[in-house]
Amino acid sequence: HAHIDHATAEKVTAAIAAGDTHAHIPEYQDFAAYRSEGGYAALERLRDNGNWEEVQDSILASGLRGLGGAGFPSGKKWGFVRANPGPRYLAVNGDEGEPGTFKDRYYLERVPHLFLEGMLIAAWAVEAETAYIYMRDEYPAVLEILRREIRALEEAGMVAPGYIDLRRGAGAYICGEESAMIESIEGKRGMPRHRPPFVAQVGVFGRPTLVHNVETLHWVARVCREGPAVLSSTEHNGRTGLRSYSVSGRVAAPGVYLLPAGSTITDIIDAAGGMAQGHVFKAYQPGGPSSGLLPASINDVPLDFDTLQPLGSFIGSAAVVILSDQDSARAAALNMLRFFEDESCGQCTPCRVGCEKAVKLMQQDTWDQGLLEELSTAMVDASICGLGQAAPNPIRLVMKHFPDEI
Ligand code: SF4
Repeated sequence: HAHIDHATAEKVTAAIAAGDTHAHIPEYQDFAAYRSEGGYAALERLRDNGNWEEVQDSILASGLRGLGGAGFPSGKKWGFVRANPGPRYLAVNGDEGEPGTFKDRYYLERVPHLFLEGMLIAAWAVEAETAYIYMRDEYPAVLEILRREIRALEEAGMVAPGYIDLRRGAGAYICGEESAMIESIEGKRGMPRHRPPFVAQVGVFGRPTLVHNVETLHWVARVCREGPAVLSSTEHNGRTGLRSYSVSGRVAAPGVYLLPAGSTITDIIDAAGGMAQGHVFKAYQPGGPSSGLLPASINDVPLDFDTLQPLGSFIGSAAVVILSDQDSARAAALNMLRFFEDESCGQCTPCRVGCEKAVKLMQQDTWDQGLLEELSTAMVDASICGLGQAAPNPIRLVMKHFPDEI
């Protein structure tokens, strides 16, 4: 119940109406600077006499996989979308609502044109009629940067006016789910769709749609400019490529770290300057709350799609949160379930009622583990989308690894 100063509120409203967004705009590489170091040369070359399959081959050779969470090979998506007759669209998922994730913001506030060029290359590859950018409204600086730089692209004749359609998300976590995002782009309430049909066939306004995350497109531009080796030449623990980890919690230096894809949690904590002073490593969230919590004892596993799945977790958007001996795993899991309870779109019963019920059970002094397990199974088996299917991960992982706390 903050005190509202009406005079200030009015002033702010007037300033916003006058176009002053009050966003602190960080120093970033603008269109002229990007262009002067060879930016958009790759796009121009492709538009002049490029072959989309060659670009697809080099994206596949780089090993680039979707960086929003699902980890699907990016080049393959292009083929799926192109297999459907036009008009086609591109939709960029810039919702970045996974708690602990801030890598897209990091790149967009520094090198927005790498993303924009990658987006235009992908749009060219699938012959998209419009490129929609769905950007979270909680990133006012990013929105302002994109508005300015899209205008610069239009003025330079790099894109037709209106070709890039910047849409603002309104703070719903579920709108980061691709089909809910598409509903939201269409102006509807953001609720996930049943699949099939997949968005590559029936996406925005019923048309075949290529959906990519912001960071994925950033890498598309880099692969086109620097060659596939920019990703594929890094090898670590049997994995190739690089991944941007958003690291927060009890580390000395939270931030975005670009590390080999085969990094373990030990590598990640080391990169972030080690544990914060006075804290002993206890547990970690490897990739957003949907990935639950793993104990510090699992510290030598390369955090990847296939290694985390058998552990009941996943890498998702690589939002790593470090917990220490001063934190409660039980409280962290409850916090995650409260988040899912708030953010469930309410469309299906196992998730809507399941999250609420789980929160109630997790608030009791002793967890009813049999009932929580039964509830988890129903949610995993019967929820429509990933939110409800993954929501039990924190419950199950705490029951497994932190039985003393529950
Ligand atoms: Fe909505 Fe949850 Fe069902 Fe997903 S699982 S459709 S978020 S109610």
